[in-house]
Amino acid sequence: MTRLIAAFAAVLALAACGQPGGQTEAGGETPAVPDPAKGVVNLYTARHYDADLQLYDAFTRATGIKVNRLEMAPDQLIERMKAEGEASPADVVIMADAGALWRAEEAGLLAEASIPELEQAIPAQLRDPEGQWFGFSRRARVIAYDKAKVKPEEVATYEALASPRFKGQVCVRSSDNVYNLSLMAALIERWGPQKAEAWARGVVANMARPPQGGDIDQIRAIGAGACQVALTNSYYYLRIARSEAEADRKLAQAVTLSFPDLEGQGAHVNISGAGIARHAPNRPQAEQFVRFLATPQAQTIFAGANNEFPVAAGVEIPTEVAAFADFKADPMPVVVYGRRQAEAQAIFDRAGWR
Ligand code: FE
Repeated sequence: MTRLIAAFAAVLALAACGQPGGQTEAGGETPAVPDPAKGVVNLYTARHYDADLQLYDAFTRATGIKVNRLEMAPDQLIERMKAEGEASPADVVIMADAGALWRAEEAGLLAEASIPELEQAIPAQLRDPEGQWFGFSRRARVIAYDKAKVKPEEVATYEALASPRFKGQVCVRSSDNVYNLSLMAALIERWGPQKAEAWARGVVANMARPPQGGDIDQIRAIGAGACQVALTNSYYYLRIARSEAEADRKLAQAVTLSFPDLEGQGAHVNISGAGIARHAPNRPQAEQFVRFLATPQAQTIFAGANNEFPVAAGVEIPTEVAAFADFKADPMPVVVYGRRQAEAQAIFDRAGWR
């Protein structure tokens, strides 16, 4: 037990200096050294959304189980758990990308779990075939465009971003971003590596500026006239559309989303997902927590607070999210994004997409 306390304290100390804003516990009170004793959930998460605090609070209210949250970038999270080994206090791992979950699985950090409620609620293509992780929210990686300058039919496919029509008009973030890597993995899966690489070169040739910033920055760049089209995850646009700031809502009226079609299959879908840590000291609580993520209550929070699409059916979601929720979604199993991740990065590198 002393070993666990020491390990968790060390983790917390690192988080406090390396990740400002990420070290607070659910509920937002002053961070203290968490009690690694049985009966809590120690959560290592790569999600970076304040909205998740609502989720942990709801879980604690429903179960009485406290959530100790530690927020890290995906690679940092994986390296930390590898270093901690069997002494890791982590109970649950959350990632905001299927490829990152796959990497955690490959590193041997996750436990197999057979949880009937999850298998029932969550479509098979959004879960790990080995049962080590499952998706609890969906997001589409799509094209945001300037409504005044671009016709919807001009952005009906992913190919469009590489076409001469958008020479100097594409804004996009860097290629080491997990969302871009997963999209590229899906393109390789569907098109083969040659066409995928030609596409990457075409996008690079069309870039309005070198890759910079996050998805929100790309949408703002459209509003500022720096480009006409951008790649973004759906929830970032919806966050702007549902913002309290009038300028944001105006931006969301000038810009909208196209859900491009990938070879007749629909738009590229990614997940946020969770797995139980292989050496979870609080396994029953960890199972309770992951089960909670698929409940209507949690699903409503993902949609309401972070504008993601539910994985489970029959969930109430805000009007603005619902307006985009009925898109045609590519049924490609998300586990593909992990398997093809290294290939995806190699293609980006060769294409000069930095
Ligand atoms: Fe995100």
